[in-house]
Amino acid sequence: SEFGSNCYRVVLIGEHGVGKSSLANIFAGVHESIDSDCEVLGEDTYERTLMVDGESATIILLDMWDNKREGEWIRDHCMQVGDAYLIVYSITDRASFEKASELRIQLRRARQKEDIPIILVGNKSDLVRCREVSVAEGRACAVVFDCKFIETSAAVQHNVKELFEGIVRQVRLRRDSK
Ligand code: GDP
Ligand code: MG
Repeated sequence: SEFGSNCYRVVLIGEHGVGKSSLANIFAGVHESIDSDCEVLGEDTYERTLMVDGESATIILLDMWDNKREGEWIRDHCMQVGDAYLIVYSITDRASFEKASELRIQLRRARQKEDIPIILVGNKSDLVRCREVSVAEGRACAVVFDCKFIETSAAVQHNVKELFEGIVRQVRLRRDSK
């Protein structure tokens, strides 16, 4: 990354409505009563420094995948600029899960020779009665994707902190193995 070794650009991608912006808002700390150290760099870009395993890491989080105003180029841009990706689907929406596979393929095509850290994110895990995609299916899909898997709930803030810590760890694993 052009930012140096402790700053990572993380991009949220996935079907509209799966909860990308909700996850971004939690990252940005809009629900925190205390003054957080998050900086809003633009309406869909957030920066925050986290301590992960005793080492600080700065994440620049991009949530512009659904930005229609900017046109289609924004998606190509997103595919190019990430140091890491969160491919989000909703566990209540099988079509969004199928879309995630498509996005994985697009990403592989866009960044052919790179080993890009990815986490497959099954969001809305609080909606147990509406579940259409099982945990086992999500996990199996991540094996095929060769990436990590986590289920989150932005609504009840379950596993969201773990998600952002997880992506930092994935980037570091690749950095440290070079
Ligand atoms: P985006 O289009 O991917 O950015 O999705 P949004 O963050 O705008 O969320 C779409 C809708 O799903 C909103 O009504 C959110 O309140 C809701 N939503 C997002 N995450 C969750 C979740 O974890 N659980 C539940 N129950 N609803 C969620
Ligand atoms: Mg959104």
